[in-house]
Amino acid sequence: MKVILLRFGPLYLKGNNRYVFENMLISNIKKKLCDENFKFEKTFGRYVVSNYEKSREDAIVQKLKQVFGLYSLSVAEEVVASVDAIKNEIEKNELDGKSFKVIVKRADKNFPVPSMEFAKELGGLLLDKNPNASVDLYNPMVEVNVDIRMNGKAYIFNETIKCQGGLPLGSAGKAMLLLSGGIDSPVAGYLMGKRGLELEALHFYSYPYTSELAKEKVITLAKELTPYLGKIDLHVVSFTKVQEAIHMNCSSEYMITLMRRIMMRVAERLCEKYSLGAIVTGESLGQVASQTMNSMTVTGGVVNNKPIFRPCIALDKEDIIEVAKDIGTYKTSVLPYEDCCTVFLPKNPVIKPTIEKCEKEEKRLNIEALVEECLAGEEIIEIK
Ligand code: ATP
Ligand code: MG
Repeated sequence: MKVILLRFGPLYLKGNNRYVFENMLISNIKKKLCDENFKFEKTFGRYVVSNYEKSREDAIVQKLKQVFGLYSLSVAEEVVASVDAIKNEIEKNELDGKSFKVIVKRADKNFPVPSMEFAKELGGLLLDKNPNASVDLYNPMVEVNVDIRMNGKAYIFNETIKCQGGLPLGSAGKAMLLLSGGIDSPVAGYLMGKRGLELEALHFYSYPYTSELAKEKVITLAKELTPYLGKIDLHVVSFTKVQEAIHMNCSSEYMITLMRRIMMRVAERLCEKYSLGAIVTGESLGQVASQTMNSMTVTGGVVNNKPIFRPCIALDKEDIIEVAKDIGTYKTSVLPYEDCCTVFLPKNPVIKPTIEKCEKEEKRLNIEALVEECLAGEEIIEIK
């Protein structure tokens, strides 16, 4: 019987939480495959997905490759873990003219033949059947794997497909992703999701300075993250009043810094409102003026009780772009719609803002009223 054999990460490192993690992973897998017919079996160290429609195999593999916490998978033939049944299945490998290597893993130590010995025996069998094949232990063209598990079954396969790795979505709690229309913040969301964080997203827009299309773009980006992050509540907040107030009253070089400080305050308030444990941004050190150490000190400085996670902080733009392309957000991110931060963009944004100057500038604003107004106009769009 053809099955999909799933391998997961080192959940055992989580001690007593292991079962919580494992149940979360299993529930995420089942949710991911909710539109498919399949049987799920949990056996020590592996999961087995079986009884699916053959025509859905590729689609199921693609879906499983998006589940955080799975490390790799193999489409395998499942047989009873007996010497004869395994030999019978192994013989089907057509290896004429190819080099190969047999790898036997024996989780079930009650299996009568030790792994190395059995691998040699199976290799001999394959050579008998395929006189033009050769054994190459170091760089074989074909790997013939036999994985003998504790459930009385053996799994025979040629390929191991890498999956996402990471930790099960939701196992690290829930946080708020500041999602712009750019390249970096969707990647930041993906990277934190991979560490087990479930996410809601927050987007500030400046209609009529930015078009409705800018908002549509962010909805598309959130949608493109759902294969990895599941359902996302996207909070959309109008930033127009804030920008006008800053533009009219404050020093232009501090425009972006002051905007960011208000974004952060709104984000923290929404975290409190929706019981979210952290704020996530797509900032990368030194990428632009607003992402220097000083800038992050003053923008992060207004957040009192939540950690700010910046998973792109140490990544080169090239590396961020590579992830964006891999996960499928890049094409949308580079569509040319304006972000609210590009409206009223100062010619010379400050590179080393100070807290003192920020506070002086903010005296000219009614910060609390601006934050309240953002919160009052919040719209929530459920993205799935
Ligand atoms: P990105 O590619 O994510 O837009 P960026 O390199 O353009 O990042 P900035 O525009 O300086 O960088 O924004 C830094 C971070 O601030 C973004 O990664 C995002 O987390 C947050 N941010 C910026 N603009 C918005 C917005 N309009 N709504 C929500 N968050 C935003
Ligand atoms: Mg941006």
